[in-house]
Amino acid sequence: MNDLLVANSVSKNFGNFKALNQVSISVPKGSIFGLLGPNGAGKTTLIRIINQITLPDEGHVMLDGQPLKAEHIRDIGYLPEERGLYKSMKVGEQALYLAQLKGMSKSEAKLQLKYWFEKLDIGDWWNKKIQELSKGQAQKIQFIVTVLHRPKLLIFDEPFSGFDPINANLIKDEILKLREEGSTVIFSTHRMESVEELCDHIALIHESNKILDGKLTDIKREYKSNTFEIGLQSNN
Ligand code: ADP
Repeated sequence: MNDLLVANSVSKNFGNFKALNQVSISVPKGSIFGLLGPNGAGKTTLIRIINQITLPDEGHVMLDGQPLKAEHIRDIGYLPEERGLYKSMKVGEQALYLAQLKGMSKSEAKLQLKYWFEKLDIGDWWNKKIQELSKGQAQKIQFIVTVLHRPKLLIFDEPFSGFDPINANLIKDEILKLREEGSTVIFSTHRMESVEELCDHIALIHESNKILDGKLTDIKREYKSNTFEIGLQSNN
C-alpha cells in the first residue's frame, strides 16, 4: 500500500452548484502533495470532505486502506485557511485543550508544547490571550496545534498566509522536517511557487474538476502552459 489517502470520484453539490465533480486523488505515503488551483476551484471542499466536516454526495475516501471513519480524525492534522482559535482563551489553555481533543495526555501535550514553543520562539506567550497576538503569532500557535499530535496526515490550507518571509521559511523548513519524520502532507494553495518549492506530487483543480495530476517533475511544463487560462497566481 503506497498511498496513504485515496479519494475516489468524489462529488459535492451545494444546491444546484457542483463544487466538486468526480474528483479522484491518490496521495503517496511520505509525499508532500500539492492541491493547486485558483480560488473557488473546490480545494477546500475536498479537504473538508477528507476531514469529515462535510459528507460527499458521491464517491468515497480511504485512509491507509480503510474507508474514512470517525476515529481517523486523530490521524489527521488540519490547518484551515480560516483560522479557528478562540480569541478570548489563553494560548497555553487553548493549546492543551486542542491537544487533548486529539487524544494526547496533558503531560505529553505539555512536553510537546514546550518543545515547539522553543523551536518557533514563542517563549512567553503561554498566558497571553489569542486576541493579544499578531496575525503571524496566532498563525504559529495554529500551526503548532495542527502538528502537535504527530498525525499520519497533515493538511495545510494556505499555511503561509499571514507570515512574513522569515517566518514563512521557518514553517516551510518545519513542514519538510515533519515529512522526513514520516508524516504525509497535503498542501492546498493557489500559488505555484509554493508548490514548486515544497511538493513532489500535485493535483491541479479547476472549476470543480481535477484537470491534471502526477509527479511535479513530469507535469511542470504542462501546467505552466495552463497558468494563464486558469488564473493561477504565479509571481508574488
Ligand atoms: P477553493 O478552496 O479552491 O478556493 P472552495 O472549495 O472553498 O474552493 O469553493 C468551491 C466553490 O464552492 C466556490 O464557488 C464556493 O463559493 C462554493 N462553496 C463552498 N462551500 C459552500 C457552501 N457551504 N455553500 C455553498 N457554496 C459553497
